[in-house]
Amino acid sequence: MIIAFIGLGNMGAGMAANLVKAGHTVRAFDLSAAALERAEANGCSTFPTAREAATGADAVVSMLPNGAIVRSVYTAEVFGAAPAGALLLDCSTIDVATAREVAGAAEAQGYAMLDAPVSGGIGGANAGTLTFMVGGTAEGFARAEPILKAMGKAVIHAGAPGAGQAAKICNNMILGGTMIVTCEAFALAEKLGLDLQTFYDISSVSSGQSWSMTSYCPVPGVGPQSPADNGYQGGFAAGLMLKDLKLALEAGAATGVPLAIGGRAAELVVYGETTTGAE
Ligand code: NAD
Repeated sequence: MIIAFIGLGNMGAGMAANLVKAGHTVRAFDLSAAALERAEANGCSTFPTAREAATGADAVVSMLPNGAIVRSVYTAEVFGAAPAGALLLDCSTIDVATAREVAGAAEAQGYAMLDAPVSGGIGGANAGTLTFMVGGTAEGFARAEPILKAMGKAVIHAGAPGAGQAAKICNNMILGGTMIVTCEAFALAEKLGLDLQTFYDISSVSSGQSWSMTSYCPVPGVGPQSPADNGYQGGFAAGLMLKDLKLALEAGAATGVPLAIGGRAAELVVYGETTTGAE
């Protein structure tokens, strides 16, 4: 297929490279010249605007920073340039309301649009092992699945337009809460005189177990390799965690769901971002 790829940053670069590896022709656009150079090195052809990249494409995939940018790229550039009937897949993490609004506008223009945010981070994007949570019609999902499978290990239809974003922000709110409480538990265990490896051996097979403990353990030398083993460098940036928590809090406010732990997690991530490790 001919696929336009818009937004080839930390995540999009590896995703587009995997589409090339799967045999697709990838037409790339990004505002950053460095991103376009890397895309070319990975076998994409590059274009000076999103409009030109989308022209003649069977499908458009985007991996952009936020909802306002997604709205403007699709409404000002992609709509009208991509041929009628083209499949539009936005893989960015954005708010549910904007995802629904842009999908509705796309449908009115004769496109099938799905929200398909991901879990798995930059490592998963490079390795082609992302999890995609997809919102849109069953027909759209059936068309999208083979494209997304070239970039991921799991592709799950979450429901109607916006459902992929809803699943993403609820999932990441769980991550925000469990990551912080896992750090607190290890700090407390240490002060109580427990050997941290022993505590891990116990809790990782007990009811305190979670992804934050067994895949991303915050203690150096304990559990699997994680940013803790690398001086806490790299990994899922606090700024991105905060972005996802804020999207969850906005959705909670819009739907009247109290999010006490999600809210506290957001406050602590802000605090962590604005203080040094010593504090
Ligand atoms: P990034 O900032 O590295 O990449 C975004 C890219 O979009 C940049 O290259 C930027 O130049 C480009 N861009 C911005 N505005 C544009 C425009 N108008 N037209 C074309 N290109 C434009 O960010 P990222 O880490 O790749 O994240 C992308 C999305 O994936 C975000 O929505 C993020 O929340 C989500 N996400 C990120 C991770 C992660 O671990 N990094 C994990 C899951 C989901």
